[in-house]
Amino acid sequence: MANASPPDPRTIARPVLSGATVRERIPLMLPSLPTADELLPYLRRIDERRWYSNFGPLATGFEARIAHSYAGAGACHVVALSSCTAGLELALRALSLPAGAPVLVPAFTFIATASAVRCAGLAPVVADIDADTWLLTPDIARAAVRSIGARAVIPVTTFGAEQDGEAWAAFARDTGVPVVMDAAAGFGNQRDPGPTCAVFSLHATKPLAAGEGGFVVTRDAHLAHAIRRLSNFGINLDRPLDGPIGSAVATGTNAKLSEYHAAVAHASLDRWTDIAAMRQSVYERCVRTAQDACGGRLGVQRVPSSTVRSVCAYRFPDAGTRDRAEQALQARSIGTRRWYLPTIDRQPAFGHVDHLPTPVAEALSARLLGVPFYPDLPQPAIDEIAVALAGAFG
Ligand SMILES: *Cc1c(COP(=O)(O)O)cnc(C)c1O
Repeated sequence: MANASPPDPRTIARPVLSGATVRERIPLMLPSLPTADELLPYLRRIDERRWYSNFGPLATGFEARIAHSYAGAGACHVVALSSCTAGLELALRALSLPAGAPVLVPAFTFIATASAVRCAGLAPVVADIDADTWLLTPDIARAAVRSIGARAVIPVTTFGAEQDGEAWAAFARDTGVPVVMDAAAGFGNQRDPGPTCAVFSLHATKPLAAGEGGFVVTRDAHLAHAIRRLSNFGINLDRPLDGPIGSAVATGTNAKLSEYHAAVAHASLDRWTDIAAMRQSVYERCVRTAQDACGGRLGVQRVPSSTVRSVCAYRFPDAGTRDRAEQALQARSIGTRRWYLPTIDRQPAFGHVDHLPTPVAEALSARLLGVPFYPDLPQPAIDEIAVALAGAFG
């Protein structure tokens, strides 16, 4: 390029969350992270200490705040990480399962659940979900352990919906199979980390957001220690019994949370109570308005009423109605998303994974549509979405 003058930022096509290059008039998601003013006190601490990563005071302070919020679940250990995906992979690797061992994942989830299994050198096996909660349940997992001998399970807190921690503890007791929860969007809902651990995301699109980041919550001090060490190249920092201090005693990676991301995570946590309340009330308003317009014909996920919502997704009576709703919204420049289409076993990179029959996940995926939802979604937009949805029913 002869002319290296920087491009005008206004003319750069903005890659946005939908994967499209333009943002819709009413976007599917509009993250609201802390403002520069809210970040400033934390950034000043970074300036003062000149400590930017490697278990710095903001990252460890964030871990302490999360651990404190889990006091009701017994003594929990928290490890801050660069992402939920990295956390899932490292948690699986810390379990030291045999290479290629089968790990159960739901068909209906974000691709990261399955790719973390592959990256940990294990083999994802796809299972179905419950028709009402849209979750991979302990009952489904019990049957799968019997039929395919799964060596670990990754139940997902789908769209943030709580998994039954006690039921999973009973599952682990009965089967001996560890349970690594993918609780990516589950902060505020998943109050029990389950028998092994729960891994949360701080991605911009999750209710508790730092831009990028994640953390593991576990009652198992040894597991927390192993995950932390794997997140720092496998270097042994403090346990002479494990090998020489300062040497790699495991093949690790770099999955640490930087102090800058930890600063955003702190500021997000400061406003969590407000975020959670707004998400709950706006979600209720969205569903009430849409159901009124559609004669109550929209299906919604069955979750506890206190659930902090991360998305708004409706199940239509059939695929044709879903497709008409999608077209009606898109024609008005309103964002939509086909969650989760394709299901895991139909993703091109995962076409050959083993899978059990998944009729519930297939049927849901063919009829589900995500519509715009964020804490400050204005009422006129909520009304307009409802009218467009109603049009699909003719
Ligand atoms: C967002 C999400 C992830 C990925 O989280 P990252 O922090 O971006 O790695 C994994 N699983 C599920 C179910 C998610 O929704």
